[in-house]
Amino acid sequence: RAPLIELRDLKVHFPIKSGLLFDRTVGYVYAVDGVSLSIRSGETYGLVGESGCGKSTLGRGLLRLVEPTDGEIVFDGTDLRALKGEQMRQARRRMQMIFQDPLSSLDPRQSVESLLVEGLKAHGLADDKAEVRKTLRDTLAAVGLPASALSKYPHEFSGGQRQRIGIARALVLNPELIVADEPVSALDVSIQAQVLNLMEDLQNERGLTYLIIAHDLAVVRHIADTVGVMYLGGLVEEASSEDIYREPMHPYTKALMSAVPVPDPTVEDRRERILLAGDLPSPANPPSGCRFHTRCPWAQPTRCANERPQLREVVGGHRVACHFAEEIADGRLRPHEVEA
Ligand code: SF4
Ligand code: MG
Repeated sequence: RAPLIELRDLKVHFPIKSGLLFDRTVGYVYAVDGVSLSIRSGETYGLVGESGCGKSTLGRGLLRLVEPTDGEIVFDGTDLRALKGEQMRQARRRMQMIFQDPLSSLDPRQSVESLLVEGLKAHGLADDKAEVRKTLRDTLAAVGLPASALSKYPHEFSGGQRQRIGIARALVLNPELIVADEPVSALDVSIQAQVLNLMEDLQNERGLTYLIIAHDLAVVRHIADTVGVMYLGGLVEEASSEDIYREPMHPYTKALMSAVPVPDPTVEDRRERILLAGDLPSPANPPSGCRFHTRCPWAQPTRCANERPQLREVVGGHRVACHFAEEIADGRLRPHEVEA
């Protein structure tokens, strides 16, 4: 299937201003620094990484909710960054966002009805009252809420129900692409699976394409077809969900996965624990060369600190941004000890 959306070398840099004497730019936060990826129609792409890696900014940049600094966003064959005003508004209807905390993203003084109608109004789709009413009821039914929810307010619902309202709000505009930023991380574990299952059902019924952003690898494991891992503004690894969980190849992904507890505590965990040196560097002052070299247990002198590795296909469909991916995979390079 053709890509529905494709990012080409996307960059989102935020200027750091010094407001003291002059309002001048003293540097940049390189939140997203050259990411290329594509998402096929009907696919679920899981984007994971620690907080501060740029994954949320990437999601917002992709929708132009923050303006990218450079690069292309090709949506259904059109470069979004070239669209203006009305054209961009039309395109935006086709791409909706679901946020982490439904309470903070929903206005507590607005009824569910007015929350849902808002988007329709913004796109001039709220003129026919009977049709609006039907759309709202159908949308609520699709997310498993009764029509009586329309006259209620967000605080009258549980966390899981509120996220269903957040999903309904995105769905009401009949989008093709949904960017979901941490859609279940504010919910109890028992509710997380319900919401993810609902998202999967909706995808199957409506042919939706998802970009699901999460810091928790377990969240995207089953729902994602493809998983991308971000570190300090860059994509360091990308593969099918199956391949990346079975054999993570980038040292950063290996470390992330080694920190995830095995699901069955009676099974002996034979995986090697990979400890990372130091803290996440600031995205305003990222390390030279491979951005992971200051923490990488496999880092090699000179090259890792000097040359930025490109994301490249190492084995079929598995892309890794590491100079030594092959040597690490076949054991020619061993990790060095890291002082904890
Ligand atoms: Fe580690 Fe070097 Fe690979 Fe970067 S390029 S992940 S520092 S081995
Ligand atoms: Mg985030």
